[in-house]
This record gives sequence, C-alpha cells and structure tokens, in this order.
Amino acid sequence: MPSIRNFSIIAHIDHGKSTLADRLIQHAGLVDERQFHDQMLDTMDIERERGITIKSNTITLPYTGRNGETYALNLIDTPGHVDFSYEVSRALASCEGVLLLVDASQGVEAQTIANLYAAMEHDLVVIPVINKIDLPSADVDRVKEEIENELALDSEQVILCSAKEGIGIEDVLEAIVERIPPPKGSPSEPLAALVFDAHYDPFRGAVVACRVVDGVVRPGDLIRFLSNGAVHKVEEVGIFGLKRESRKSLSAGEVGYIIAGIKTVSDVNIGDTITLDRMPVEKPLPGFREVKPVVFSSIYPVSSDDYPSLADALEKYKLNDAALVYQKDSSAALGQGFRCGFLGLLHLEIVQERLEREYDQSIIMTVPSVQYRFKLDTAETVIVENPQYYPDPTRIVSAEEPFIRASILCPDRYMGAVMKLCSERRGENPRFSVPTPGRVEIVFDMPLAEVIFDFYDRLKTVTQGYGSFDYEIIEYRESNLAKLDILVNGEKVDALSLIVHRDRAREWAVQVCERLKEEIPRHQFKIAIQGAIGGKIIARSTISAFRKDVTAKCYGGDITRKRKLLEKQKKGKKRMKMVGAVSIPQSAFVAVLKAE
Ligand code: GDP
Ligand code: MG
Repeated sequence: MPSIRNFSIIAHIDHGKSTLADRLIQHAGLVDERQFHDQMLDTMDIERERGITIKSNTITLPYTGRNGETYALNLIDTPGHVDFSYEVSRALASCEGVLLLVDASQGVEAQTIANLYAAMEHDLVVIPVINKIDLPSADVDRVKEEIENELALDSEQVILCSAKEGIGIEDVLEAIVERIPPPKGSPSEPLAALVFDAHYDPFRGAVVACRVVDGVVRPGDLIRFLSNGAVHKVEEVGIFGLKRESRKSLSAGEVGYIIAGIKTVSDVNIGDTITLDRMPVEKPLPGFREVKPVVFSSIYPVSSDDYPSLADALEKYKLNDAALVYQKDSSAALGQGFRCGFLGLLHLEIVQERLEREYDQSIIMTVPSVQYRFKLDTAETVIVENPQYYPDPTRIVSAEEPFIRASILCPDRYMGAVMKLCSERRGENPRFSVPTPGRVEIVFDMPLAEVIFDFYDRLKTVTQGYGSFDYEIIEYRESNLAKLDILVNGEKVDALSLIVHRDRAREWAVQVCERLKEEIPRHQFKIAIQGAIGGKIIARSTISAFRKDVTAKCYGGDITRKRKLLEKQKKGKKRMKMVGAVSIPQSAFVAVLKAE
C-alpha cells in the first residue's frame, strides 16, 4: 500500500490555487499535455467565470518521491466563500496539512490570513508556498518577510514555485510527503468516515465523498448515517482519479467515495459520520452541523406557461445541490412560483445563474428575506420568511430577528471605515483584537438581515478589497419590525414587499424607490413609485413620461449597469413583467437590493 497524504490548497483569490492544482494533476501523469486544459478542478462555468470554487472536488494523485517510495496524495479542494464556510471546515477536517499559497507580487492578503486561521483551527501542518515567482514584479524577499511577520510562519520553510511555468512543482510535492504526516487511525477500529461532499449521479444515486478516519468499508456492507440513522447497502467504493475508480475497500486514512443506492442527496449531510450498522461507533466525528437555509426568496417563471418546466428544473437542480430547499408559492403580481431557502446571498445568485444557464429557465427572483419570529396576542408564535405572510400588525405582541456574530479581519488603517459600516448596519457590541501586528479583528453582533443585502460588497469597497468577513448565527433578538410595501402606479407589487426594521424603513423605502426609478423604463405616462407602511406613504419617486429624444438615456444608471443591460438585450431576452399597465424588467426585482 502506498503511503497516504491528505492535503488541501488554500490561498487568497487569484493567487494561483487552481493553476497549481492543475499542475499537480499533470505532474502525476493523470493527463497528458494534449488532454490538459486549464483548471481541470473547477468544472462549472460559473466557477470559472467568477474564479471561485463552489463545489469542492477531490482527486487522488500517485507520486513517487525522491526517496523512491510511492505515495497516494489526496488533494481535497475547498470552496472559497463564506456562504460555504461550513463545507470548507469539513474539507479541512479531512486533511493533515495544507499548502498556503501566496502570490509573489501581491503578498499576504486578507483571505490568506483567514484561511491560515481555518487551517490552524484544525491543527494542520502549514506549508507556505510563494507562487508566481516568474512575474517581473515578483518580490520574494518582501513576501517572505510578510510570511514571517504577518503569518508568524518560518520563512526558511517557504517553497518557491511558478504554477504557470511549472517551476518548483517537485519541491512542492516533496514538501507534502516530507512535512505532512500520514493519517492516523486504525483499520481494525469500528468504521468512522467523515462525509465532506456529495453529488448526484443520475444512474447510481448519491456519490458520497468521505475521509475514512477509522475502520474499513467494502461493497456489501450495511452503512449507517449517524445524523439520521438511515441505513444503506454499499454498492461500490473507490477513489477519485480524473474519473471514479472503484476499489475493493476504503480503509482508515483513505479519501474516496461510497455509492450505496441513495436516491436523494438531501439524505446525505455534509459533516455527517458514516459507520457500520452491525458495529457502529458510539460518538460521531466532531463538528457536525445541520445546514439550514438562512436566506429566502421566491422564484417565478417570467412567463406563467413555463411553470411546469420550472418545477421540473428545480427538481433536477436540487439533486445536485442538497443545500437548496423549496416549496410552492404564489403571488398576485407574478403568479405561481416557488419559495426557496439558500445558505446565503452567493448561494442564491449561483442557483439563479445555474437555473438560467444549465436549465434554460427565464426566472424572476424576489427580494431576499431572513426568517422572522412573531409572538401574537393569541400566544401563538409564527415564523415568517415571506413578507406576503406578515401577520396582522394589530395582533403582534413582539417580533424577533436572527442575529449573527460577524467577524471582520482587516489592516488596522481601515478600522474606522469598518466601524462606521457596521454601525450603519445596526451592529452592536464591537470587540477588537490584534491577531498580528498591523491587522485587527473586529467582532460585532449584527442582524442577519443587514448582511444579506450587499454587506460583503460594501465591506470590500471600504477596505479596498482587504477586509475578509465571516459570520455565524447566534440567536434571535427582539426587534421593531414593519412591512414595507412598494406601489407602482398605485398598485401594490407583492413581490417587492419587504420586512424591515422600523428605524431603517424610510432609508430602505427611498433606496428602493430610487432603484426602481432607474430600472423601470419610461412609459407613455407618468409612473409614481411609492414606499408605504400600513397605508402611510413614506417615500416616493416619479418616472416621467416618455419623450422621443431620451431613448438613449432610457435606463440611466452607471456604466456597469448599462453594460449589463446591453448584454441581456443582446441575448435577445429582455424580460418584462406586466404589473397593471406598467412593464417592469426582470432585473428590477433583484436590483433593488444591489449596492452601487
Ligand atoms: P485561484 O483564484 O487561486 O484559483 O487562481 P488561478 O489559478 O485561477 O490563477 C489566477 C491567475 O493567475 C490566472 O490568470 C493564472 O493564469 C495566473 N497564475 C497562476 N499561477 C501563476 C504563476 O505561477 N505565474 C503567473 N505569471 N501567473 C500565474
Ligand atoms: Mg480557482
């Protein structure tokens, strides 16, 4: 048996993680030069375009060391965004070490540090690697100093490489086998395997990616998922090469897949422990958390005829993304649709894009909402994540909304700007610490509702890209809420309604009215856009009537919005929804919450 090393690559975005992964795959001889295409591991189009890894992928690389020994190196890829931080944590829990990549000209950045912390939390061996040494602007000495001072890692341990030019790749591989310890764990113990990913194969059902910590699993075994007690019979086990390669067994320390005729991916929970039904472990592996949607929004087909097709698409999509939850919904303005729950705003955007691109759906999504709790005078508590079901205000005794603990890491010169942003967003109880000289960690309690709207973008802007952000939901707290209605030309557009904090209601109403003014094209008549709480108008804007010579300025707004609109029109899909006599473009429903 080859000796095993389980590792992951972590880096700030664009520092070369995907490129290095590709190089390692190529070096292992899994693909020849001809087959080699860039970024083998990032498989989905959206991932490529946005340069983020959404679904983690894993691959086993054979390697013969300079000492002549053979190794199986398991490269476990991690998604790179806070919406998926739980998946990152489960992937790292499957490793013994990480390569921490730093760009030779950019140096240490916010996400480098955040990633390092995540690795340290799991007690992983960290191998610092400076990438892109081929660049004329590379400054290896300066970056080494940063690694020493800001990351407190030994700069003598740094490996230099150029993933693009293929320089130093063997040094990286040697460091992996020399410095990262082989996995512990024993094949003779009862089976304990950590589920860190899953995807759906239309013929075989769920393919569960796992790290076997103890024991052995073979085809024919009855396995049990500890979180829900579900028992399945193993049909196949194996490792991830470029394709799945079946094996006779997976034992302690190995990383691979299990297929057990599981037809619904939602039965499989990331972070769950798999054990044997006849000889189970007593305790699950640490860190399991049920993933619950925190952001909700409704999806409607642009044309109501497409409802059955959307229903079909969602069902198929769901098999590939167990984190999405949905149920039927309907709206006076938009007809029949679905209420969906997402892990966060990025998850929402990914679902939207994939439904449009991969499943060819033309959809409208409504303003996202968190889940609120209302105590009524009947002593009943109702949970509402859809403004349509806002309770009768006269019956509400008290209201609560979810709070998060937000942790922001940035160079100390941005502290003032971050503090200002957080207090604008109703942040409370700030705490500070200085994890490394020159950098601060600022922790706030904040309403989740305030971060689902463009918080991350704003943070990036005020910190010039250096701020990193992570959060966890802590508890529900009492809050003074109201339902904001939006009226277009006197008609209430239920899909634009919003639950807001009363102190922020006017600000929101003004913003939404202004955004809609930019998004809705001029008509033959004047259109009033109004924001109202319980019938009281608190904001308004007006779109003046159409005149011949203003066509070019029809949309107003900034350059990027114009470009986006042009792109959309180019696709020949200018999607409009009629509300009364007014046609509202599809983009308006999402644009109301986008930052400038
Ligand atoms: P990721 O976001 O960390 O996955 O980064 P990518 O692997 O997508 O790389 C980001 C950009 O840097 C791409 O344009 C790569 O071609 C480029 N890049 C990656 N490694 C190197 C390198 O060693 N040298 C140079 N010059 N460019 C590199
Ligand atoms: Mg990448």
